[in-house]
Amino acid sequence: MSLPQTVQRCERCGNEHAEGASSIECTACGGLLELVHRVTVDAAALKARFDARLSRVLQPDVPPVSPERSGVWRYRELVLPSATDAEIVSHPEGNTPLLVRRVVSDWTGVDGLLMKHEGHNPTGSFKDRGMTAAVTQARRIGARAVACASTGNTSASLAAYAALAGLPALVIVPKGQVAMGKLAQTLAYGARTLLVDGDFDTTLALLRAAGESLGLYLVNSVNAFRIEGQKAIAFELLHQLAWDPPDWIVLPAGNLGNTAALGKALVEAKRIGLIGRLPRIAAVQAAGAAPFATSFANRFRTHEPVRAETVATAIRIGDPASWSRGVRAIRDTDGVVLAVTDDEILEAKAVVDAAGAGCEPGSAAAVAGVRSLIRGGTINPGDRVVAILTGHILKDPAILLDYHAAPGRPHSRANVPVEIPASLAAVEAELVRLVRR
Ligand SMILES: *Cc1c(COP(=O)(O)O)cnc(C)c1O
Ligand SMILES: [Zn+2]
Repeated sequence: MSLPQTVQRCERCGNEHAEGASSIECTACGGLLELVHRVTVDAAALKARFDARLSRVLQPDVPPVSPERSGVWRYRELVLPSATDAEIVSHPEGNTPLLVRRVVSDWTGVDGLLMKHEGHNPTGSFKDRGMTAAVTQARRIGARAVACASTGNTSASLAAYAALAGLPALVIVPKGQVAMGKLAQTLAYGARTLLVDGDFDTTLALLRAAGESLGLYLVNSVNAFRIEGQKAIAFELLHQLAWDPPDWIVLPAGNLGNTAALGKALVEAKRIGLIGRLPRIAAVQAAGAAPFATSFANRFRTHEPVRAETVATAIRIGDPASWSRGVRAIRDTDGVVLAVTDDEILEAKAVVDAAGAGCEPGSAAAVAGVRSLIRGGTINPGDRVVAILTGHILKDPAILLDYHAAPGRPHSRANVPVEIPASLAAVEAELVRLVRR
């Protein structure tokens, strides 16, 4: 009998479960599961396959819905090797750009800061990378419906991928705490949306308690398949850098699913031989939602949930679900965890936005984190640094208008709209002022 290509292994007790097991926790001890793949191809052969698939992304003979067009399934040997083309639910996703903007580099103090802009994914955040894998798995195991609790982007992504797969979707979100773009997307893509009085941590606890008894397949980031899909951020990034790893990868951290995915991807890439050394991870939290940063400062000896409060709703999480995985990612990569204030996040965001790149507040935490690490001497100006911009600028339009156009004393980098009478003279006066600037 041949060995299975993939198993789900409990991160706590080590028990192994079949790849097709539908529980997202260990049925023996309740621990989180991780996927372990048997990779039978060596690094050189894998790179050749990835190159070949990349070269076909824009080829007219590739069918429009082929997984070959996806920046996740390009790396399928490391994501979900047993999934067939027919099973894969792909938008497609990924293929996100690496940006360099002089003003952003200057503001952070890094020479040539690279920004991996995950807001270019189909629903506007990196969540699509995890969702293509999780909804593919939902279809493979014959789930009746899919569900998640969310600060917004997971629900938007789930709603879109469930629509694509023809599966009913249920999302639970904290009422009044989800950015406008995300809630609007979720409704428009057709997921049944429940608004709950409470914070994200409450909604996740509710869903985990209710979920499996109702035959729902949960696709929160504790779902091991989400993690596998999100690993592709790292694979695609390293591929874009010709497998020459950066010194640092800096990302915002809320529930720690993405931190976990990045750590797992880097460790696997090193073990397989795709890269020769590990980049260090810097996970950035908002100061009002920073239990992981506090714990890091105590060498992870403490673990205390907080009541989360920050303008960056994507990372407004007080009790991160992927805690143990996050700790491992930081330890494995000799990483660091830090917190930045809402003022720093808003300033970073204004700089990224005015550079024409744009991102949502949660993403800007990464850029604020880079600046803080440069100032503290942890990152050197000449280091090669990549910040992950996790979401699109239009996810949170309310915060933009509040920053630039709200009455009262304007923010330091506000671009305040000017009201004028409908006269040519008034337009000309403004034009003169503009070109003199
Ligand atoms: C989900 C999300 C995060 C946080 O990722 P975690 O996996 O929860 O740590 C950060 N930024 C954006 C835009 C997100 O959607
Ligand atoms: Zn277990």
